[in-house]
Amino acid sequence: MLSTIALDTQVLRPGLCTGCGACQGLCPYWSSVEGRTVLLFDCERLDGRCQRFCPRMPTDLDALRRKFFPAETILPEIGPYRGLCLTRAADPAVRARAQHGGTVTALVELAMKEGFIDAAVLTRSHGGLDPEGVLAATPEEVRQCGGSSFQIPPTLAELNRALKEDRYHKIGVVGTPCKTLAVYKMMANPLPDNDNHAGNIGMVFGLFCGWGLDWEGLRDLALSHCSQNMLSHMDIPPSKFHSLELTEYRRSVSVDLDEVLPLVRPACRACTDMTAEFADLSVGGARSVDGWDVDKGWNQVIVRSEKGEALLKLAREQGVLEFRDPMEGGLEKLKKASLGKKRTGVKAVRDLTGGLGYLEPSAALFEDL
Ligand SMILES: Cc1cc2nc3c(=O)[nH]c(=O)nc-3n(C[C@H](O)[C@H](O)[C@H](O)COP(=O)(O)OP(=O)(O)OC[C@H]3O[C@@H](n4cnc5c(N)ncnc54)[C@H](O)[C@@H]3O)c2cc1C
Ligand code: SF4
Ligand code: SF4
Repeated sequence: MLSTIALDTQVLRPGLCTGCGACQGLCPYWSSVEGRTVLLFDCERLDGRCQRFCPRMPTDLDALRRKFFPAETILPEIGPYRGLCLTRAADPAVRARAQHGGTVTALVELAMKEGFIDAAVLTRSHGGLDPEGVLAATPEEVRQCGGSSFQIPPTLAELNRALKEDRYHKIGVVGTPCKTLAVYKMMANPLPDNDNHAGNIGMVFGLFCGWGLDWEGLRDLALSHCSQNMLSHMDIPPSKFHSLELTEYRRSVSVDLDEVLPLVRPACRACTDMTAEFADLSVGGARSVDGWDVDKGWNQVIVRSEKGEALLKLAREQGVLEFRDPMEGGLEKLKKASLGKKRTGVKAVRDLTGGLGYLEPSAALFEDL
């Protein structure tokens, strides 16, 4: 007998599961294997704890953001906005392990040092492969998580575990937009008996995200070009390069993007958030007139909340981050790219569901794109 639970019928089976892990650890029925969310036993409940925070269950996104961000800060294209800057970690040792400028690692460390958070749920991988969610409580543990993985691990299962443990009371979370949306759903709508201790979430750091890739497919592709022990980094440069760049010890390999695009996860095609609109700070790769050789060592940061603004101010005062002004027209470019993802995401949702699917309660946000 097939399960009737909505998470299975509305999210998993239509191919909308982002693999975030927010459903896991709340009941024993859900797990994850190499980026694939699995229902271990048939479940006949029509609702359940598992679906409460899922970013692909219908959510009134407008109401959710108004709960956390003043209406006057919200830009339709990129969400809550208090400023944009280009930054990188001042410490070269942080930059050396990082994906771009090491801004995320430096900010998480600073947030820990200054008491904004007392631990952080991060993602650790091996040169971008086999990522896993981890709870980091020391600067060294935070640094070990530098770098991006384009495989998508169920990091929020680790958050659920850490919240339930109730040992840390201001947990920071770093995640892609689908994950940070789930985290705001947790904060807005804790379980009735509050046994997930959602009040223990301290701060949210979002990552810009174009798409994530099939777990096995990316591993096979990367290992056909590099040896697993030597692979240290992977990245997708701006679209004009049309490539995935793999870095091995003293060697870089450029893989044609045509080999990569078939690996994009179906759920990522139906995603409408590029800039992690639910976050205190959102961080992506920099874009400036200097070109990719310089930009790949920098980040662009969207400041979204008062807390994010306060942390960034401290980072400037203490010299933890170096700052540059964004290029002229940088915000407009960002808005355009973000709108592009919204348009293709809405089209993919329509193709999959015949309507606005999980976006339905937020239809007004997507009407005039
Ligand atoms: C799947 C994916 C797609 C992305 N697409 C884009 C894009 O299209 N455009 C763009 O500008 N930027 C994109 N990014 C963000 C970019 O790769 C960097 O994470 C960002 O620029 C921050 O760089 P940094 O040097 O400050 O990060 P670092 O200081 O190296 O810190 C990176 C942090 O990312 C976390 N992390 C790594 N992998 C994952 C993962 N799979 N899921 C959740 N958290 C993870 C780690 O916990 C770590 O704390 C993407 C990131 C991911 C994970
Ligand atoms: S909560 Fe995340 S992992 Fe679970 S079904 Fe929803 S999208 Fe998939
Ligand atoms: S594209 Fe969307 S669904 Fe896919 S990993 Fe990024 S934020 Fe999540």
